[in-house]
Parts: sequence; C-alpha cells; structure tokens
Amino acid sequence: MLHIGCHLSISKGFYHIGQEAKSINADTFQFFTRNPQGGKAKDIDIADVQKYSDFAKTHNFAKIVAHAPYTLNPCSDSPQTREFAQMVFADDLKRMEHVPHNYYNFHPGSHVGQGVEIGIKMIIDLLNQILTKEQTTTVLLETMSGKGSEIGSRFEELAAIIAGIDLHEKMGVCMDTCHIFAAGYDIVNNLDGVLCEFDKIIGLENLKAIHLNDSLMPLASHKDRHAKIGEGEIGQQALINFVKHPAIKNLPIILETPNDLSGYAEEIKMLRQNIEK
Ligand code: FE
Ligand code: FE
Ligand code: ZN
Repeated sequence: MLHIGCHLSISKGFYHIGQEAKSINADTFQFFTRNPQGGKAKDIDIADVQKYSDFAKTHNFAKIVAHAPYTLNPCSDSPQTREFAQMVFADDLKRMEHVPHNYYNFHPGSHVGQGVEIGIKMIIDLLNQILTKEQTTTVLLETMSGKGSEIGSRFEELAAIIAGIDLHEKMGVCMDTCHIFAAGYDIVNNLDGVLCEFDKIIGLENLKAIHLNDSLMPLASHKDRHAKIGEGEIGQQALINFVKHPAIKNLPIILETPNDLSGYAEEIKMLRQNIEK
C-alpha cells in the first residue's frame, strides 16, 4: 500500500488537515510547525489533536511529517541565530509529543563560509543538547540541493551528522527527489546506484520519508526549484520508478510540488494508479 500525501496548511488545525488530506485520497501529509519564516507557533488544541488521532486511526493514516521553519539555521555564524534555532527546535519537539510517533524534518543548515566541518559540528552540538531519550518523534535531516553553503547535499555529510549524535536512534533522513537530483545524484539513469550509495554511506534503514518533487533545474545544478510531477528534468516515469522501488515504496511520500489542492489530488491519483496495480 502506497502512503502518499502532500504539504498542507495546519492553520485550521489537525482535524481539518486530516479531512483535507482524506478528500484528496492522501493518507499522510506534511505541515509547517509555525510559519516558514519562524515566528510564534499556535497553541496546540488538545481536543483537536484527539479528534485528528481518532480520524487518522480510522482511516489508516501513515506517519506524518512536521517541517521546521526555513530560517532555522543550527550552523549560523551568529550565536543568536543558533540560540534561536535551538529554542525553536526544542519547542517544536515538545509540541510534537502531542502527536506522538511522527517525524520532524529540518534543513541541516548553511555554514555561511565557516566550512562544512565546523557546520556539521554545530548541527551535532545542537541536536545533542535537545534530543531526549523520552521523545517519540524521529528527527529527519533533509537531503539538500547544495545551494550556497548548504550542508546535506552529500550523503557523507548526513552520515557524519548522524554519527555524531548520542541518541542516533532518534535520527533519520528525508530524501527530497528534487534536491538530490539538483545535488548531482542521477535518479533518472542510475536509481539503483544512487540508492545503493545511500545504503553504503547512511544505511537504508535510516531512510524514513520522501519528498517527491520534479526539478525545474538540471542534474547537479545545485538549484532548488520544484516542479510538478512530469514538468521537470526528472520526469514522470523516473518518479514513478522511484516510488515503485522496494527501498522506497513503503515510506510516507510527501508531494511538495507547486500545486493547489486539486493539482495534488491529480498527482496522487496518477501515482496510485501507476503503483498500486
Ligand atoms: Fe524542506
Ligand atoms: Fe523538501
Ligand atoms: Zn526544495
């Protein structure tokens, strides 16, 4: 069974988003924990979360993915920005325990000229300070396109972060197809090779979720521009093959394509038709 959904707005609460997801035949979704620029998070409405949990159980929803704000940069050169990142991260993880056993995905960060090694060390330090043995949430590092000084466009960098985490069982990876393609991993012509490399360097057991996007920009462009499925350089067939792969097909798959709800509904329908036969 394919678990697929898309990025949706949480502004009307969990129960609303659950119903919205169901209405487009999705059984998972992603949402921003607060506005993507940072800012204060809305208070969690316990009754709403309970209503959502019952709904999700009834409709066999898969794990859902919370996305950290884009401004969160654990390896900034500014101590205030790093402190802000730590505060937001810790607060989000605390709130996530109201919807336990799900995923919290973040962009590892940009080292802004300090170098990859120092950046990785700062990310590790932040995670080691806020992860707890008690948490039920798994924190996911997103694979990045490598624009600017972004960390996480090489599997080796993600592996180095996980290796430095004391509670590494609380960690995993979310693979974004647009980002890895832009980073230079050729999932069009060498899908097995890319996944084999991921397995060797990070371990496929650490791959927990997928962002399924086509890419407006070519292989190894290091530019992050999402396209609708079939309207980019990866193409519809390569993305279908990707989702069908035994290493991928049981993971929660989140579309972050430039779509409104009806556009997402169509992509979900197309993927289910191609994969569940
Ligand atoms: Fe992201
Ligand atoms: Fe993504
Ligand atoms: Zn992106």
